[in-house]
Amino acid sequence: MLKPYTHEPFTDFTVEENRKAIEDAIQKVENELGQNHDLLVGGERISTDDKIVSVNPSNKEEVIGTVSKANKEIAEKAIETADKAFQTWKYTKAQDRANILMRAANIVRRRKHEFSAYLIKEAGKPWKEADADTAEAIDFMEYYARQMIELDKGKPVNSRQGELNRYMYVPTGVTVTISPWNFAFAIMAGTTVAPLVTGNTVLLKPASTTPVVAAKFVEVLEEAGVPAGVINFVPGSGKEVGDVLVDHPKTSLITFTGSRDVGTRLWERAAKVQEGQTHLKRVIVEMGGKDTVVVDKEADLDLAAESIVVSAFGFSGQKCSAGSRAVVHEDVYDEVLERVVKLTNELTVGDPVDNKYMGPVIDQAAYDKIMSYIEIGKEEGRLAAGGEGDDSKGFFIKPTVFADVDINSRLQQEEIFGPVVGFTKAKDFDHALELANNSEYGLTGAVISKNRANLDKATLGFHVGNLYFNRNCTGAIVGYQPFGGFNMSGTDSKAGGPDYLALHMQAKTVSEMY
Ligand code: GLU
Repeated sequence: MLKPYTHEPFTDFTVEENRKAIEDAIQKVENELGQNHDLLVGGERISTDDKIVSVNPSNKEEVIGTVSKANKEIAEKAIETADKAFQTWKYTKAQDRANILMRAANIVRRRKHEFSAYLIKEAGKPWKEADADTAEAIDFMEYYARQMIELDKGKPVNSRQGELNRYMYVPTGVTVTISPWNFAFAIMAGTTVAPLVTGNTVLLKPASTTPVVAAKFVEVLEEAGVPAGVINFVPGSGKEVGDVLVDHPKTSLITFTGSRDVGTRLWERAAKVQEGQTHLKRVIVEMGGKDTVVVDKEADLDLAAESIVVSAFGFSGQKCSAGSRAVVHEDVYDEVLERVVKLTNELTVGDPVDNKYMGPVIDQAAYDKIMSYIEIGKEEGRLAAGGEGDDSKGFFIKPTVFADVDINSRLQQEEIFGPVVGFTKAKDFDHALELANNSEYGLTGAVISKNRANLDKATLGFHVGNLYFNRNCTGAIVGYQPFGGFNMSGTDSKAGGPDYLALHMQAKTVSEMY
């Protein structure tokens, strides 16, 4: 009998034994840095001369590893291979596919700190964030395995006398997974195993800044029993490899998490029916956010300040769920701002190997973009904390707070994807909701309030896919807080939720007379 799903517990690093375990894992990973990882197509490793060089964002000189880069020809071959593998994989039993995921989850659980150490080194994640990322990857596998077993039962439909009707779910085909660097393990793994467990074959193209952790995960999937051709590993450039994969007539599903620009471009490309294409492509896209923490006048102000800080600066604000705007009732505005500034100035920034609260941002382009928004913020608002960066060794930016920013300013409208939060004052609660809804995105939001009527009002009136009361707006847990957003945040596919797997399948009705 399968144990009911519960999420993977987080590691308490104040316990000496756990601290030692992560430090040992970091040491192990540091000893194996610089290795090369090849492509995987149809069970064969392919080495190419052109390599992606993955560097440590805390130390530009340190190479985490190199990864062979796919090209147009390899991408095409990989699709043909995946299409061939699909012809048998689609008939495998759901239970057998689910078992593979549960085995993979167990392998990762045994090597949990090693995977977290890779995230610390390759993505610049602080210990706590890396541990949560690894836990979420395990959760996706355990949760989707159980969901698949349920979905395989189909759904009840009526039958008349002499008739037997069945309603079932069948796989769609070749799936292209294009995954992000900010949840380099969790989202990469989740968007790979969901198509796999539903009977589709996968081409995984991970983010170019974090391909090593993805290569390590592909090895786990092979060890857990995913057959040749069912999982294919094809890192490469978006323009060269990504476009070929998305445009190919045999691609049936595209699952993408990343920026709004890339997501909307991909959505458009996938809509075009290519020569020889015999189906319409399905697309799952999860894009950006400009998420708001709203503080009411009747609120625990310490909780409000802490929620703003955690939402804005966890993993340096590099989450689409990050609370990059604080909208605060005018009666408590000055006090909340003061507390946030105080907490912000106490945060530690540095190499996450040393367990700092905040590590670096991912690369030079991100650093430059965030620093330019800090300059814009100085024009549009009042700098209240941080504002400085240092990219001499790694890409470090101080947690930054801007006060008195207009909601229609660039700072409060555009996704910065860095450790920057802007404060906007609200006249009353209704006004606060109006300001919070003033965005083209609609991913997450939080309300800090003791007023039940206001919370009730926000339940439907705050237009976001993930709404949190009296807590931060980041850190959704698989199977507990299914994740996905409204508006330009994407297709609201709700990863880690009960409707997610069905998006990778087609419903089929079978009606028999007897
Ligand atoms: N699921 C994550 C959270 O709830 C965010 C995912 C993302 O940033 O892409 O914080």
